[in-house]
Amino acid sequence: MFIFKTHTELLEWLQLEKDHQHTIGFVPTMGALHSGHISLLKKALEQTDKTLVSIFVNPKQFNNPIDFEKYPITITEDIAFLESAGCHAVYIPNVQDIYPEGLPNIDLNLGILNEVLEGPKRPGHFDGVVQVVHRFFSIIQPNKVYLGLKDFQQCKVIEALTKTYFPNIHLEFCATERELTGLAKSSRNMRLSETGKATASYIYQALQHIAHNYKKEDLNSAKRAALHFLNQHHIEVEYLESANSDTLALTSNWEEPNHNIVLLAAYLENVRLIDNIQF
Ligand code: AMP
Repeated sequence: MFIFKTHTELLEWLQLEKDHQHTIGFVPTMGALHSGHISLLKKALEQTDKTLVSIFVNPKQFNNPIDFEKYPITITEDIAFLESAGCHAVYIPNVQDIYPEGLPNIDLNLGILNEVLEGPKRPGHFDGVVQVVHRFFSIIQPNKVYLGLKDFQQCKVIEALTKTYFPNIHLEFCATERELTGLAKSSRNMRLSETGKATASYIYQALQHIAHNYKKEDLNSAKRAALHFLNQHHIEVEYLESANSDTLALTSNWEEPNHNIVLLAAYLENVRLIDNIQF
């Protein structure tokens, strides 16, 4: 597996691969890799000739400096994990390589995508995502990019960015990998105690409760019951909202089948967790 620290080295390799008509599958990550990330890589390995994973903890997308400082970094283990999974190349740039002086700011109007859920709760977050993804896509020009549906709103934001600036890049949205308990795998789970991890599994149970009650009861009472259940388990819910899964417009009534999504952000042991369920 090739390890590139600068975009100049990376571009040499990419050019060779593209000269051989090889397709490039790209998986952007912030490292502290787990089997959720690897599931994206596996899909890329199946669908494209050469796979590239990036590891970059993007300072621009952290609205909370403590969250940034505490973000886990496990580069050595990440490299071993990627190599054993069959990844072809990893790009581990520094901040200067991604944001060189004079790089223009990308001004994309996200509309509703930035006005609901994570948007107001994490001011500047999606703008940071737009900047970093635009930079990565400009450098790499991949054929396909693999994104996890755990970060559903982020998928929508990157979809909007891609439609505007990179219409030839194909996005693949991948299902959320979970622990056997249902807890969505996340780099942030490393910061939870064993008890915390066990408690965090109630999050998915609460989401499943709502999905299983689809049209059996009123949506708002299903949400209230889920909130009550989480409160009982001392999970501090920041939001629990339902939305139309195409537009992300918030809803107070059930949508047609397969157009519903319920999204949640919650704190547990000072760790911010997000999850969602579609139905
Ligand atoms: P991150 O390193 O958290 O920025 O995530 C990098 C990519 O992995 C994003 O597209 C995430 O949505 C995706 N991802 C994170 N957790 C999971 C998971 N449990 N299952 C599938 N994809 C995931």
